[in-house]
Amino acid sequence: MSKVTVEVDSYRCRWCEACVEMCPDIFYHDESSGHAAANSDAVEITNDLQTTATMCPSRCIELLEIEDRSQ
Ligand code: SF4
Repeated sequence: MSKVTVEVDSYRCRWCEACVEMCPDIFYHDESSGHAAANSDAVEITNDLQTTATMCPSRCIELLEIEDRSQ
């Protein structure tokens, strides 16, 4: 499975909470911005994560694939 880093464009996020409900281990409420944010760790891309990024009503979740340098 490939790994990605997750970024949220907090300027476009409308804080519907969907991402936090779908993937609470990755997304959280950033008190300072009042919007969603994502942990900076690389994570395995899962169906839930892909669905969350696709379903975000603001389309402000970006999954950045990490190049596999082991080959
Ligand atoms: S699903 Fe999108 S709009 Fe909703 S809180 Fe998460 S990043 Fe913000």
